[in-house]
This record gives sequence, structure tokens and C-alpha cells, in this order.
Amino acid sequence: MEKEMHCESCLLPIKVREDLVTVWAFFKIRLYHESCYANSLKGAAALFVSNTPINRFSGNFTAIVAFIVAWIPLFTDITPAITIVCSLIVLLRLYSFIRFEKHLPQ
Ligand SMILES: [Zn+2]
Repeated sequence: MEKEMHCESCLLPIKVREDLVTVWAFFKIRLYHESCYANSLKGAAALFVSNTPINRFSGNFTAIVAFIVAWIPLFTDITPAITIVCSLIVLLRLYSFIRFEKHLPQ
């Protein structure tokens, strides 16, 4: 079940994992070419495209930190809402990988 993935910016298919940038915007994961992502950040679209790519170093780093922080409320008096938010961040990272990145060749 190979499914073509298309860039939200130029609408062309994304062929390799290296070229894929996943971004969380407007409650949906959006896919971009690496170059289109860079371009869209320069243009007016920067207003609509959120800051951090999910599948790049910053996204991986955020997910790891979120995973660690998610445990803290279990051992302290800090609100459990932190666990919920952090779990969502980790799940989003996993979802991006399973739903999109896994299907593209390296
Ligand atoms: Zn593109």
C-alpha cells in the first residue's frame, strides 16, 4: 500500500524521506519538501505554518524531552496535565513517523 505523499506547497510528490518535512499546523500534520518548507517560512505562509518541523532534530529533541518530562508529575505534586500534554507531543512524533516517514525510502 504505497501512498504518494504530496507537498502542501508545490503539490508535487515527495519521493525520499530526506526531503520530507512534517509540520503541525492547524491541527493537522502537513507535508513539505525540505526546500518548500524553507521557502514557505520566508514568505507570507510563515504566518500559517508553525515553527518546528516534527521530523527533524528539533522535533526529535522535543519528543525526547517531552517523554522525560511526562514522568515528572507521577513522582511530584505537579499537575498531571503536563503528562497529558507531553504524551501528546510524543504520540504526534510517533504518528508522523508511522503515518508518513516510514513509507518513504531513506
Ligand atoms: Zn514542495
